[in-house]
Amino acid sequence: MTTPDWLAEGAKHVWRPYCQMKTAPAPLPVVRTHGSRIVLEDGRELVDGIASWWTAVHGYNHPHIAAAVRAQLEAMPHVMFGGLAHEPAYRLAARLAAILPGELDHVFFAESGSVSVEIAMKMALQFHINRGETGRTRFLSFRGGYHGDTLATMTVCDPEEGMHSLFSGVMPAQVIADLPLDDASEAALDALLAQRGGEIAAMLTEPLVQGAGGMLFHDQEVLRRLRRLADRHGVLLIFDEIFTGFGRTGELFAMQAAGIEPDIVTLSKALTGGTLPLSAAVASRKVFEAFWSDDAGAALMHGPTYMGNALACAAANASLDLFEAGTWKADVARVSAALKEGLEPCRSAPGVVDVRVLGAIGVVEFASPVAVGALCQAFAEKGAWIRPMGKVVYLTPAYTTLDADLDILLSAIRDVIGAGGVEGSGGV
Ligand SMILES: *Cc1c(COP(=O)(O)O)cnc(C)c1O
Repeated sequence: MTTPDWLAEGAKHVWRPYCQMKTAPAPLPVVRTHGSRIVLEDGRELVDGIASWWTAVHGYNHPHIAAAVRAQLEAMPHVMFGGLAHEPAYRLAARLAAILPGELDHVFFAESGSVSVEIAMKMALQFHINRGETGRTRFLSFRGGYHGDTLATMTVCDPEEGMHSLFSGVMPAQVIADLPLDDASEAALDALLAQRGGEIAAMLTEPLVQGAGGMLFHDQEVLRRLRRLADRHGVLLIFDEIFTGFGRTGELFAMQAAGIEPDIVTLSKALTGGTLPLSAAVASRKVFEAFWSDDAGAALMHGPTYMGNALACAAANASLDLFEAGTWKADVARVSAALKEGLEPCRSAPGVVDVRVLGAIGVVEFASPVAVGALCQAFAEKGAWIRPMGKVVYLTPAYTTLDADLDILLSAIRDVIGAGGVEGSGGV
């Protein structure tokens, strides 16, 4: 492939995410997207197997989202959210409150997932302070978890497996526990909370699937156990649905599989259907009421500059229209069945220790970290954009991915990992 001028020039100045730039393969130049496809500079098309880091659930350039963003751009791309209000954000907040379970009714907007987790953590800390309980200054999170890359969110990621072990000791140590997967681990967590619960503001986890920590699945009973323990020890429960939200696990929100609600939920990735950056920390009535006061000091002092960006909210409203149309459920079931059937043969491939599927998430796990750069290249040669992570090669395609395109993804995985030689230096 020839290197366009903009890539050669810009590559001297762009700091790329999650890679050792000196040794990583050059990034692929992209000029266009459509449906579930990424069009490269040289005209080749790759089927996107991971929907641009789990965001583009309706496929790229969806005409309904594009029209909504275009119309909003004509009217007003953005105004500040302090002291001003606009319909796209206010309507989106009301719609999110309506589709989220129970009393998750109060929506704080931000621009990225990590920042929404930071806001949820800040809400939890101040919730207790506002109620006169000042000792709850720490968080309890779980092995295998991932909640973002900023300084505070790093402290609640898995301390060993995560990407942030380099910084252990820099930030305050939180309490890290095992998820209560069975009665014995529930009893252990109960005992830990009996001992240290008084210093814990909130527990946080990704419900049903720990995504970036390795696509680890747990069943809905774990969420019920967490709710029980949080209530018993006066600790808030935060669900990070940044990955699992908006249909990915087969439910609109993963928490709905368990029929329980957290005190705060964070949303981002698929919120705008992969069109624009937007996130939200949504608080329950109980949390919100601790801030509702005649005392100015009880207010949450937070307000990102681009909070409630009107273009992003218009995209999110259009994405919710598509969810309301209701075809996503059948689409996720169709993708899920294809992933189950298509990945099953990988069980016997060299180095594979597990194959698992939930909703539109298909995972092939290896015994040790895989060679991310080399694998990306091998998949691209087969017409697929698949970027493995740690020990897993996984698919999280758009729900609308055509059967023929799912076949391209699945045969790329079977061919490449069937040939072996997958293990390598790891990466994200
Ligand atoms: C991606 C992700 C985040 C971080 O979101 P950013 O937008 O990358 O900051 C946090 N939590 C979970 C569960 C995620 O998947």
